Amino acid sequence: MKRQLTELTGWLKAEGQNMEGAIVTGASIDTRTLEKGDLFIPFRGELVNGHQYVRQAFEKGAAASLWLKDEPGAPTDLPLIFVDDSEIALQQLARAYRNELTCKFIGVTGSNGKTSTKDLITSVLTPYFKVKKTEGNFNNQLGLPLTILSLEEDTDIAVLEMGMSGFGEISFLSELAKPHYAVISNIGEAHMQDLGSREGIAKAKFEIIDGLQEDGKLFFDGDEPLLQTLVKSHPSLQSVTFGYTRALDLSIIDMESGDEGSDFTVAGEVEGSFTIPVFGAHQVKNSLAAILIANELGLSQEQIRTSLQKASLTDMRMQPVISKCGALFINDAFNAAPTSMKAALAFLQETKLRPEKWAVLGDMLELGDNERTYHESIAHQLTKIPLKGILLFGPRMKWLYDELKKTGNESKIIWSEDNYDPLIQELVKSTDKDSIILLKGSRGMALEKIMNGVIDA
Ligand code: ATP
Ligand code: MG
Repeated sequence: MKRQLTELTGWLKAEGQNMEGAIVTGASIDTRTLEKGDLFIPFRGELVNGHQYVRQAFEKGAAASLWLKDEPGAPTDLPLIFVDDSEIALQQLARAYRNELTCKFIGVTGSNGKTSTKDLITSVLTPYFKVKKTEGNFNNQLGLPLTILSLEEDTDIAVLEMGMSGFGEISFLSELAKPHYAVISNIGEAHMQDLGSREGIAKAKFEIIDGLQEDGKLFFDGDEPLLQTLVKSHPSLQSVTFGYTRALDLSIIDMESGDEGSDFTVAGEVEGSFTIPVFGAHQVKNSLAAILIANELGLSQEQIRTSLQKASLTDMRMQPVISKCGALFINDAFNAAPTSMKAALAFLQETKLRPEKWAVLGDMLELGDNERTYHESIAHQLTKIPLKGILLFGPRMKWLYDELKKTGNESKIIWSEDNYDPLIQELVKSTDKDSIILLKGSRGMALEKIMNGVIDA
């Protein structure tokens, strides 16, 4: 953005001081990442009071700062705007700026695959448009407005990830971003704790239509009956389905994986073959949303194919990594919930890339009361895969370990509560160029440490 501070004051209907000449080019809530020209937005929490960092923000080049009206000691020499609430002010600024922008907005939600889908959409469009996407996981009530404020006037397309942990949150983000296109990548079991059931989760994700433009379109996982039902109850909604089911607007009819990623063929609104540089049927499915949106924006099949092939996804999501000895890791250690666990294991089951298969699994966190059942139920799927070894890490994986022992599994099974070393040693000793090793666990388990202990050994 590029706005006079006085304009921002108008957006906030607030009073300011020393405003003459100040030009704001972005917003920041953290002086460590603040850039020159940013408006600094101090937050007052229980442990930290952001106002203490206002001076520092100016030293780093802030153009101006907000200041809470009831916070004493406002410096009289700095350009400040006085507000009642930092979060509300940030959202007000983003809303006002959003309404002045003419670029197309794409909102992406879903239980799993938001970041991947956002990255795939961005990768497909980037060679042909000026695209800006949510950085990292900036997908909440603070991250989304900050992303909007970072858009430039000549941005063509903004791809925004929308996350949530309860009802009303996606609705809020969607009303703020007012997307032209909305995507629901899938419905899983994440946040069951807060939403009660898969129906609840579907409803909460479906809130993304609340802010959808009048002529906007929803692209959604057509294999999910819960979403189909919700769409049926909104007859005026324009929607496009994608997935495996043949009758969908875009469906996968064939798929194969190689050392460098997945090749697949689609039929429906777009016909032809494509390649993505990551593994897994679920990532192929996510890429359908990207193909459909690119098609909607007028790109040719050839243009889509070229950019999809070079797509860059955020690390640790079904990412191929080859170790020094030639073993192939599938690094999916960014996060884990039952649905994405199933998806990753389905890939391991189906793959013919290497004959000797290993699963390195870590605890799935935040699953609520049924966490034990979720862990135990992985045993059933594991038993269908001819695995050389199953390495389990974390206290909750003890449940799966016991279940595997109980039901009888032929693979070598090792469980470690909190020490990576025995698992690293096992892989160093037993894997080679014939091995494929899936790493999958919640972020808190940091399973990449196991891979890093093995790849150079
Ligand atoms: P977060 O809630 O942490 O922001 P996210 O929705 O952004 O997650 P990603 O980071 O893209 O999701 O992927 C998280 C995990 O889910 C990864 O392990 C990924 O391989 C898996 N995954 C991605 N897409 C799907 C999908 N459509 N279905 C099931 N699992 C998926
Ligand atoms: Mg994400």
